[in-house]
Amino acid sequence: MNDCIFCRRDKLEIIAENELALAFKDRCPVSMGHSLVIPKRHVETYFDAGPEEHAAISSLVGQVSRFLQKDLNPDGYNIGANVGEAAGQTVFHFHIHVIPRYRGDVADPRGGVRKVIPSGSCHPLDSE
Ligand code: 5GP
Ligand code: ZN
Repeated sequence: MNDCIFCRRDKLEIIAENELALAFKDRCPVSMGHSLVIPKRHVETYFDAGPEEHAAISSLVGQVSRFLQKDLNPDGYNIGANVGEAAGQTVFHFHIHVIPRYRGDVADPRGGVRKVIPSGSCHPLDSE
């Protein structure tokens, strides 16, 4: 057993699982329902998971979104992974963030995940 918090699983609030992947609530949610989906096998990043694991994770992301839709009825989602410290990864067991979004939760949601680099100078809609 390694010392990875996502491998230990003891305090995780698990909401769904399949043979190769596990979904649970984020301990420190950025929005109501923020959940994480991980491979059961310990791999560090998105690029270390195999095709079967990606398929299992993708299937669970869908299942989690259906649960969230039923429970919380969000208006949208951001789905994504941080790969490496430079990109903001803090837990080095690959995970996909499933972040439900609610109309009005931020003043201007345009661009979504593009805003991981806030100084980006152009927005595709600006020229319309
Ligand atoms: P990262 O920054 O690596 O992309 O995201 C790590 C995520 O794991 C964060 O959203 C953080 O709140 C969540 N997290 C960190 N430790 C724990 C924990 O012990 N339990 C749960 N459920 N989530 C955790
Ligand atoms: Zn792990």
